[in-house]
Amino acid sequence: MLNIVIFGAPGSGKGTQSARIVEKFGINHISTGDVLRAEIKNGTDLGKTAKGYIDQGQLIPDVLMIDILASVLDSFKESKGVIFDGFPRTIAQAEALKQMLAERGQQVSIMLDLEVPEDELMTRLIKRGQESGRADDNAETIKKRLVVYHSQTAPLIDWYKAEGQYCHINGLGTMEGIFNEIAGAIEKL
Ligand code: ATP
Ligand code: MG
Repeated sequence: MLNIVIFGAPGSGKGTQSARIVEKFGINHISTGDVLRAEIKNGTDLGKTAKGYIDQGQLIPDVLMIDILASVLDSFKESKGVIFDGFPRTIAQAEALKQMLAERGQQVSIMLDLEVPEDELMTRLIKRGQESGRADDNAETIKKRLVVYHSQTAPLIDWYKAEGQYCHINGLGTMEGIFNEIAGAIEKL
């Protein structure tokens, strides 16, 4: 089983590269951002709660997120593997993921850290906001999300280094070039 964590700041290209990984390696994809946006679109209670946090550039509380992740994971039967996109975003989520996988006799195979300079992240997200109309892709909310990334999410870099699962990827370049580096790292597993 391939259990891949794709990691990086907002706008680092997690979704784009996940789609390519899914295509090449035939594994399942969990994007917590996509799950939450679907809930918002469908007007569910969860969606209403999530919207309050997302519009403020904040993270959804860990207990809620961990529950969501567990139920999506349970829906993947006979899977060749999973790519986790947007989860974990806190140390508590990383510990929960480790435990959930351990209960299934599994573990994270690799954590891919897509590193992109901050000015490039801003440029990409502002452009995405203009094209897709994603409500959280505006300058003010992006700045908040980057602060949250540095304070709550970036500590996972050292956490995964300690687990021996960390792999740095240069997230700047062509989509193909970045994917080649990712595919090379996965093939070495
Ligand atoms: P990227 O552009 O690299 O795909 P992103 O940060 O723009 O990343 P999503 O992963 O789609 O976007 O997440 C959007 C929002 O959903 C986050 O800002 C956060 O509010 C919420 N969210 C998503 N995943 C989590 C999580 N694991 N824990 C808490 N909140 C989450
Ligand atoms: Mg995304």
